Amino acid sequence: MTKNTLLATLACAALFSASAIADDIVIHAGKLLDRPGKAARGASTVVVHDGRISAVKEGFLEPGALGLPSARVVDLRERFVLPGLIDSHVHLESDTGGVGGLVEGVTLSDAAIAYRTLANARKTLRAGFTTVRNLGDGTGATLALRDAVTEGLVEGPRIVDAGRSISTTSGHMDEWLGMREELHEAISHDNVCDGVESCRRAVRLQIGRGVDLIKIATTGGVNSRIGTGVGAQAFEDEVRALVDTAHLYGKKLAVHAHGADGIRLALAAGADSIEHGTLLGEEEIRLFLKTGAYYVPTLSTVNGYIERLATNPEAYSPEVRAKIEWRISVTGKSLQLAAPRGVKIAFGTDAGVSKHGRNADEFELMVKNGMTPATAIAAATVNAADLLGLGAEIGTLEPGKRADMVAVQGDPLEDVTVLKKMAWVMKDGRQVGL
Ligand SMILES: [Zn+2]
Repeated sequence: MTKNTLLATLACAALFSASAIADDIVIHAGKLLDRPGKAARGASTVVVHDGRISAVKEGFLEPGALGLPSARVVDLRERFVLPGLIDSHVHLESDTGGVGGLVEGVTLSDAAIAYRTLANARKTLRAGFTTVRNLGDGTGATLALRDAVTEGLVEGPRIVDAGRSISTTSGHMDEWLGMREELHEAISHDNVCDGVESCRRAVRLQIGRGVDLIKIATTGGVNSRIGTGVGAQAFEDEVRALVDTAHLYGKKLAVHAHGADGIRLALAAGADSIEHGTLLGEEEIRLFLKTGAYYVPTLSTVNGYIERLATNPEAYSPEVRAKIEWRISVTGKSLQLAAPRGVKIAFGTDAGVSKHGRNADEFELMVKNGMTPATAIAAATVNAADLLGLGAEIGTLEPGKRADMVAVQGDPLEDVTVLKKMAWVMKDGRQVGL
């Protein structure tokens, strides 16, 4: 076993140690998409034992016929069943943007943020998202929630957490931006780095907090309170130091990048995923195909901006507002280029910017921008599971995998919007109250 395989095995054990359920459950599914990317099956029976799938059979088999006379039957004969959905880009801690978010940053206690994080996690699970990758966790509330969910203390999606996002000074993740200088001392800055040594240390600090992966920014961001654009804001040696240090510890690295220069920097250094990727061009697509990195489009951000501005036209400061208008005008174009070329795509919303619990709205936007319902669903199941390093545990409904599954009315392969309303959700073999 290599060091990285060992580390990945340990990480998986930590994520899946929730108390097991010993009883057997027999699920009758009218239609079953057990392996997204392949054709759906008709009437099927899924057997769950100890929180895992033990069998998938054709037709509706009764417990007696399966040798499990005391098993509980779940009747989903009128429903379409598919694997639990995975959102590869959320921010469970936050749901207020713009000026309101800035105010909350200096008024809310960490305890208040923790309760908000829990509420957002519950909304996400009830929307059918049984696993999320959380990319930006300022207070550590989501890291703590990850463990509380694993221990079975509270109900929530399985969380893969990146801890604090890292950027260079005055870059996208610098919380000092927009704050008067006297306040800087009170605001955490250990996620900001400049130069190779400093960037190696920034990653190591997150490793020490027990994160599952590292998130960095190589370009400016839409929501950061500075008008320096969305091009590259890190040097090549800094990006390499960040990527190499994450990989040294067996952690994947997700990169926030809008401008093509920052996307190229990240891909050339070996990034595992590009988040947003708003200005993809031919050269960047070739790099994606060469490196096998994932693209996470986060189209839902636009919904978040439009809705927030409709409620309050003054929701954002002028320098952020200008970037938002640009983002609204270009979002989706990169996916239109990347999808037909075979770039690996994982579903991710940036919920926190868009609304928690409305994660499935992303499917509709993906289909509007060049994907089919089938490939969009694969992006939110098999692909996202692979990106999260959990392909052996989740993403498909096969014997041995976790019993994470959802049911909807209608056929999402014909109309992907039916995924916006869940009829039934199960995580780790436990039914979730909707
Ligand atoms: Zn984000």
